[in-house]
Parts: sequence; C-alpha cells; structure tokens
Amino acid sequence: MSRILIIEDEESIAELEKDYLELSGFEVEIENDGTEGLERALNEDFDLLILDLMLPGTDGFEICRQFREKKNIPIIMVSAKKEDIDKIRGLGLGADDYITKPFSPSEMVARVKAHLARYERLIGSGLPENDIIEIRGLKIDKTARRVWVNGEEKNFTTKEFDLLTFLAEHPNHVFTKEELFNKIWDMESIGDIATVTVHIKKIREKIEFNTAKPQYIETIWGVGYRFKV
Ligand code: CA
Repeated sequence: MSRILIIEDEESIAELEKDYLELSGFEVEIENDGTEGLERALNEDFDLLILDLMLPGTDGFEICRQFREKKNIPIIMVSAKKEDIDKIRGLGLGADDYITKPFSPSEMVARVKAHLARYERLIGSGLPENDIIEIRGLKIDKTARRVWVNGEEKNFTTKEFDLLTFLAEHPNHVFTKEELFNKIWDMESIGDIATVTVHIKKIREKIEFNTAKPQYIETIWGVGYRFKV
C-alpha cells in the first residue's frame, strides 16, 4: 500500500484530501507544521508528498528544495495562489505537479495515482535485468533462481539449481564428480561424490526429454559430466 504524507496547515483541507485518498486505498499521514513535516518526510518512508506552499515553520518552497536533495518520490504542490504556482515552477525546485486551491478532490486523487504509477515505472526500469542463461529449450533465470523447460517451469532444490547452473555456465567442459562436489557442496556438507550422481539423475528427470539419451548433461564415462551446447 502506498503511503502519502500531506503537509498542510489548513486542517479542513488536509482532512478532505486524507478522506479521498484513504477511500482510494492509500495510507495517509498529515503534518500541519512545515518544519515537522520536512523532518518526517525525510526520515520516514513515504511514496508521495502533497505539499502546501504557505506553512508555519518551514514553507513549501524550502521543504521542496531540501527534500529534493535527498529523495526522489513525487511531490505535488498545492497553493491558493496561481502566482505562487508560477513562481515555484520558475524556481525549478523539482516538484512533479501543481494544484491550485480550491481543487476537486477526485482530480487530486487521479493525479496522485498517475504520479505514483509513473514513479513506479521509473524505478522499475532502473533495475538491472535478470541474469538469464538460455540454451535451446532450457531457460535458467539466475536472479530469480527459476528454471523453465520448453516454457514449462520446473522446481529445483538449491543444490540441483546450483549444479545445473554451474554446468550450463561452463559448456563443453568436462568436470569430474570430485570437482563438482567441491564446487557445489561446501566443506561442511555431509556426503560424497555419489551425491553428485544422485543430483545429476534428478536434474535430468526434470530437463531431459529422454533421460537415456540426454541432450543437455552428457556422461563422459570414467571421467564425469559435460554440459553440451
Ligand atoms: Ca497554508
């Protein structure tokens, strides 16, 4: 649920905004004083700020300026005077939207939703893409630790996933069972190289069409295993 902070000294306006936003499913906090509002905005986790311009303590101009040095969440500025809105636009303090009082609460809610959606897209696009290995019909998402075989997701245990990923990342390289055991299982693990054989069998049952004729993990008799590309 998105959390919104309203910094507004006119309580009736603040309450009206709060009511409408809560009806739309937002969690809303009100702060009447500018200085305390800035303090909370900086120290708590909000998703959007609705900021009045004329406030006791620190005014909206200053809150916007100081807040923007630290955080990127959307700011909607509210003012009774259109001239003030023009002024703050001109100052380039980094507010995302401006609303003149009196305003329609439903329009304010629509703008809040639009800015939150835009911000989420922005944040989402900033994330690095998942690290994916794709070999023929096999898709391994290393970031999400998920595996698909011809589009169908298969469930892997941690060690099965680690072993499959390790082999797939080193195609055409033959590893002995000892090497694989040392790579995948930590020193404290109880077990021996027979564990590797058991895990290879389980992986094959999940990824191979015909386990008797594996197309991904080949057995190199007397040596170990190789991932075929
Ligand atoms: Ca005010």
